[in-house]
Amino acid sequence: MTIKPLVIGNWKMNLDFVEAVHLGQQIGVLLKNRPSEHTEIVVAPPFVDLRSVASIVDSERIPIGVAAQHVNPNDNGAHTGEVSASMLKRLGVTWVLVGHSERRSMYAMDDAAVALTLRAVVRSGLKAVLCVGEALDIREDGDHDEWVRRQLRSALDGLDERFAELVTIAYEPIWAIGTGLTADVAQVHAMMTHVRSVLTPAFKESRVLYGGSVNAENAASLVAEGRADGFLVGGASLKAESFLAIIQACDDCYALKR
Ligand code: PEP
Repeated sequence: MTIKPLVIGNWKMNLDFVEAVHLGQQIGVLLKNRPSEHTEIVVAPPFVDLRSVASIVDSERIPIGVAAQHVNPNDNGAHTGEVSASMLKRLGVTWVLVGHSERRSMYAMDDAAVALTLRAVVRSGLKAVLCVGEALDIREDGDHDEWVRRQLRSALDGLDERFAELVTIAYEPIWAIGTGLTADVAQVHAMMTHVRSVLTPAFKESRVLYGGSVNAENAASLVAEGRADGFLVGGASLKAESFLAIIQACDDCYALKR
């Protein structure tokens, strides 16, 4: 592992702004006691918590970035209920998740919308986490490599290479998200290799994360043997202790392999 690891906590639609600030502060305290030396850390709270979490991160100098879980690709206008990248930027947000499988499956975000959103994010100077991954039937049919290749190509083809440094990939098999079923080390290793082979040379510094029921127990092997550059974590990011244990596993692995 030569690229520094990245761990992102996706809080999904959990925690009101009081609870979110509390979790941010708990993460800050744990990091003060045991700082992460190598691993970059990001949390993705719900929209309504972003300002409060960004403020506490700033005022208490907590070494974490703040991400939004989604954004509308338009700059402004008649898009009731939506939020633009420039609005996020003004809040102190520096990252955006793009095309999470829950957005794709429950909110009709198709490949074209993912590609548009990715462009809006990076053009505004925000960092993007492009989420890809197959459903169980696709995995069972053996079509997962082709599925992921198509998702990656559809989002990245034609993207100005100047923006490559702003793009992180998260491979998240849908059958492993929130199910307690983790892809095994061999499956993760194979997909990390496949994703890197699909990316053009401009993306050679891009991190390729794994997501899907990552926890304190499986994180070390997924990063050491699975060769993930870090994780997108859902459930286990809602408790400071389990989130920090995952970060520590990445940190230890990076320190050993350097
Ligand atoms: C996710 O929401 O991206 C995710 C990976 O969730 P979980 O860790 O709970 O499977």
